[in-house]
Amino acid sequence: MSSVAIIGAGTGGLCLAQALRTAGIEVKVYERHRSPADALHGYRVRINPTGARALRHCLQPPAWEAFLSRAGRIRQEFGFLTERLRELAVVDGGPDAEQHYSAERGMLREILLAGLEDVVRFDASFERYDRTPDGRVECRFADGTRAVADLVVGADGANSRVRRQYLPHAQRVDVGMVSIVGRLALSAAERLLPECLRARPNSVVAPHGTGMFVAPHEPGADEGYLMWAYGAGEHRYPVGVEAMDGARLAELVAGTTRSWHPALRAMIRETEPGTVNAVTIRTSVPPAPWPATNVTLLGDAIHSMTPLRGVGANMALNDAALLARELTGAADLRTAVRRYEAAMRRDGFRAVAESLRAARMFVSESATRRLLFKTVLRTATVVPPLRKVLYAKLC
Ligand SMILES: Cc1cc2nc3c(=O)[nH]c(=O)nc-3n(C[C@H](O)[C@H](O)[C@H](O)COP(=O)(O)OP(=O)(O)OC[C@H]3O[C@@H](n4cnc5c(N)ncnc54)[C@H](O)[C@@H]3O)c2cc1C
Repeated sequence: MSSVAIIGAGTGGLCLAQALRTAGIEVKVYERHRSPADALHGYRVRINPTGARALRHCLQPPAWEAFLSRAGRIRQEFGFLTERLRELAVVDGGPDAEQHYSAERGMLREILLAGLEDVVRFDASFERYDRTPDGRVECRFADGTRAVADLVVGADGANSRVRRQYLPHAQRVDVGMVSIVGRLALSAAERLLPECLRARPNSVVAPHGTGMFVAPHEPGADEGYLMWAYGAGEHRYPVGVEAMDGARLAELVAGTTRSWHPALRAMIRETEPGTVNAVTIRTSVPPAPWPATNVTLLGDAIHSMTPLRGVGANMALNDAALLARELTGAADLRTAVRRYEAAMRRDGFRAVAESLRAARMFVSESATRRLLFKTVLRTATVVPPLRKVLYAKLC
């Protein structure tokens, strides 16, 4: 393996670059943003045991230690509450639950970028690729520059240009759900909210096709906050909801949660409107397997999923570790890519299916399904093995 061009310096692309550089493989990353600080959204990423294992594999030991010392640990419990804050179940993660971390996005980016100063080229917006006569791949960028590599990896996120050229039939579709997301500062949360909402992530199982996810994020470089995400089928929203400002969106959520517990209503009311935005939930549709070549894809570029299980970044890290393992010492590039893609499709699209199921359950309009779900949750409080299964399937 002589050279790899990675398009996109996001979570997956940078993690792959770290592992390839350590393996002595020539690698370059091309990122459309002008600097590492551009487009850093102020939210945290939950790193689960799969993501943690991948990070550990790809990072050099000092960088992994830096991650461990800077990431917050997440409590292994996950709660299910009614909209009146009655507890339905609290499930836990079992033996590997200690490996869940909460990572501030800027911190994770800093660790993934460390030592790659000569590897990442910013302000390089990928436009298309062409095959060269000797079978390599030439990438073209918006500023007219070009770069040739033996393998091109599209790690350019959910709207991937590499995917659109390479697998134009691979689609992303709306799942018919819109989520309104906001952040309440921890100081306000301490003043306004009961312990159960501040101590662990919770899913609020509300009636009539609506739900809410509430999760505390410990202080790190920032003050710490409580993130809430209200979700409902798109037919429940007025037309043009995505374009509304934060204050209007918060009003909308307040209007549909009048019968909810006063603490949840206070949480919505006291949230800084600038932190509130609406997200149309989309998911990728698994394409039929394709033959391996010297172009491939990883992370959201191929298997973007609903945010309901919070695992998209973990699956991008997982892909990076899978591909790095296959490329390290590979005798034949296409065999390495074929093996990687088989494992990536298996893991990635399983996560896509699970997060789609979770999204459908979250906003299900079926009273029977909701009742059944609540019954399963209540049963879990007295059946410990069921608690573990629920944690693995839903959290
Ligand atoms: C609010 C929110 C919360 C989330 N929380 C979690 C969580 O807790 N846990 C979790 O696992 N996941 C979470 N996710 C999902 C997670 O952020 C994504 O799944 C993850 O970032 C995907 O990583 P990636 O490397 O595939 O793509 P990205 O991280 O999106 O990186 C793609 C990169 O490619 C660059 N790029 C795009 N186009 C071009 C181009 N033409 N040329 C050059 N560069 C280009 C982009 O600028 C970007 O830097 C969350 C998402 C959201 C929106």
